[in-house]
Amino acid sequence: MVVSYGNSGVVELPDGQRRLCKFRRSVGRPFCGDFVDLADADGESAVVTAVRPRANEFLRGGPQGRRQVIAANLDQALIVVAPVPEPSRDLVERYLVAVHSLGIRPLLVLNKAERLPGAALADDSPLLRLDQYEALGYPVLRTSCKGPPGIEPLPAVLHEQTSILVGQSGVGKSSLVNALLPDLDLQTNELSRVTGKGTHTTTTTIMYALPCGGRLVDSPGVWEYGLWEMTQQEIARGFPEFGPFPAQCRFNDCRHTGEPGCAVRAAVDSGEVRRWRYESYLRLLKP
Ligand code: GDP
Ligand code: ZN
Repeated sequence: MVVSYGNSGVVELPDGQRRLCKFRRSVGRPFCGDFVDLADADGESAVVTAVRPRANEFLRGGPQGRRQVIAANLDQALIVVAPVPEPSRDLVERYLVAVHSLGIRPLLVLNKAERLPGAALADDSPLLRLDQYEALGYPVLRTSCKGPPGIEPLPAVLHEQTSILVGQSGVGKSSLVNALLPDLDLQTNELSRVTGKGTHTTTTTIMYALPCGGRLVDSPGVWEYGLWEMTQQEIARGFPEFGPFPAQCRFNDCRHTGEPGCAVRAAVDSGEVRRWRYESYLRLLKP
């Protein structure tokens, strides 16, 4: 699915053509990114006869903490940060925990990279720890929409993947989308032609084809990470370097907050787990 409205949407056929399709209530509502089976309805449109099982669902906390699906079957989420607005101490961990919990691969993008040298940052700013995130295994890409290095590092990681950009308002997500999609207007006009109505990019989640190969899901509004409640295990999964340690704790319901015989705490003391990451984990446990 390229885009999904209430009871209809646009699918991309294997040959790349786009086609209007209707949903049947019995089949359920497919989301942007879903793989579906189709049957012909009339010459113009098709009917969705089945929604294939999803690899993952990308959620947003809705009203009253309800979880809303925005898209399905994403490969990766690019967490965008910038020197302005300055990210708070635990912001990157919050995003990492949320993306890991959805079963999607997280990457970090430092946009407005040209403003980093000389930026006045707090001592515990995540932007001073980018090399440590890299050492933890997270790719870190430096971009700028206002000068070198431009978006040059992005095509290589976006190629053949389905990606979404997430991050605080003002970090430059729309600017990156525009830079990545020189034919953005063409693509939305084509969608409007297929649906026969206007496509409101400010209210609709749309999957675009990237010139570098791959797809980019653009969803309006800030992604309010962590609006849903997470269990201690979900939070711990956002810290992959805890690795084998939780299984070695004396108590199998150990929360790693100071319990006797905690192997995670021992790994922090021995330097195998970075203390600043562990402290962030403790803060995320009690919001
Ligand atoms: P969004 O809210 O994350 O979608 O952010 P926008 O794309 O709307 O960008 C917010 C502001 O940052 C705009 O004024 C952009 O012109 C500016 N901006 C975006 N990218 C860069 C960059 O790489 N460097 C600088 N200096 N400003 C940027
Ligand atoms: Zn423990």
